[in-house]
Amino acid sequence: AMCLREDQLQIISVLFEAEMKKGLSSKSRAVAAVKMLPTHVCASPNRSESGQYLGLELEETRVRAVLLNIRNGQPLHHTNLHHKIYEVPLQRLHTGAEEYFDHVAQCISDFLDFVGKKNTCLPAALTVSFPCEQTATDKGTVLNWSRCVKATDCERQDVVTMLREAIDRHGTFDLDIVAVVNDTVGTMISCAYDDPQCEVGLIVGTGVNICYMEELKNIKNAFRKEQRMCINTECGRLGENGSLNDIITPYDIQVDLDSLHPGKQRFEKLTGGLYLGEVVRQVLLDLTRRGLLFKGHENIALQTPGLFHISCLSQIESGRVGLLQVRSILQQLGIESSCDDSVCCAVTCRAAQLCGAALAAVVDKMRENRTRDSLNITVAAHGELYKIHPQILKETVKRLAPQCAVTFMTSEEETGKGAALIAATARQKSEQ
Ligand code: BGC
Ligand code: MG
Repeated sequence: AMCLREDQLQIISVLFEAEMKKGLSSKSRAVAAVKMLPTHVCASPNRSESGQYLGLELEETRVRAVLLNIRNGQPLHHTNLHHKIYEVPLQRLHTGAEEYFDHVAQCISDFLDFVGKKNTCLPAALTVSFPCEQTATDKGTVLNWSRCVKATDCERQDVVTMLREAIDRHGTFDLDIVAVVNDTVGTMISCAYDDPQCEVGLIVGTGVNICYMEELKNIKNAFRKEQRMCINTECGRLGENGSLNDIITPYDIQVDLDSLHPGKQRFEKLTGGLYLGEVVRQVLLDLTRRGLLFKGHENIALQTPGLFHISCLSQIESGRVGLLQVRSILQQLGIESSCDDSVCCAVTCRAAQLCGAALAAVVDKMRENRTRDSLNITVAAHGELYKIHPQILKETVKRLAPQCAVTFMTSEEETGKGAALIAATARQKSEQ
């Protein structure tokens, strides 16, 4: 009974579209469920960029550094990119902003040694997987720091300033930080270099979020000459005002109550890899209690919170195993999981349907914005859920936004490349 009917999905799509409009309007912004954060990214790479740029991907449990080497007009090959991944030790996540950014500076220092660029002040940009309020491309005040760790002293602070100060403390290199962007924006831009129709970024991994190009005239306080600006929707927040209560099950309620931030990110708790395993566990516990599983004997393993998601403190981002692991654990517990009937699939199918409904609202809004009867658009997508159920997601979008022809591009592990491209584009513009 987890899978949603067409009419339910339609309602969610309409609801999200209305919330997007609320979030954009200066009158209703404060009460809107979704944040609709202006990113100040207005342009995609146009292939006139050249030079060397550093992209940094800051995730909760790792830092990924990318050096991009472009010569104008040329297509990008993997030979144009060098990268390295650094794990962030757990104690760094718990100490606080200063120590976290000191660790990041140390990673960058190592990477610059690795690529032999210690003595050049490279233009750089970073992607972050949390919401920032931005007043310029290189200013991003942290709204809430992390999905996994309770509020730290990062909140209300500017990410770029925190990193610059850490680089100064480190004292062995310099960087010209030109932008900080949400990870969805990095994803979108990483594909936009190859496909100029790519104007949407979708991440359905540990966390869930969508960004897209909105008309400037619809954005509060945006005075620029460009036609559009990328908006970070933070759609994971949908439902914080109770609007999803009709579809929320008792299992979801339990997962929310057990989470670090009860009441928050309700849409994300129905769709994000960090939570789906927990929903599955709640369903299985219930089936057991009702005598339908394990002959009614509660399985000790099942009572373990976090059984199905690698707890956020153990390298989820790099592991990417979350949902895929659920299946193998189910098998170990003796539960056959053929894809149609397993609980696991019901939960992940619903998640894919919901993400499809949200995405449909976005592309259809873009079509309406441009007063067109039809719209061809490319979505850069990545995340586990996309890997597991690309078809469900695509079909849901197609049914709910029939006037949009959506092409999907996968962008695994590329938000760092997107960041480097954003640095290149920003640099290019300031030189013109
Ligand atoms: C964060 C977003 C991020 C998404 C995907 C969410 O939890 O709030 O800012 O884009 O995860 O990583
Ligand atoms: Mg990521």
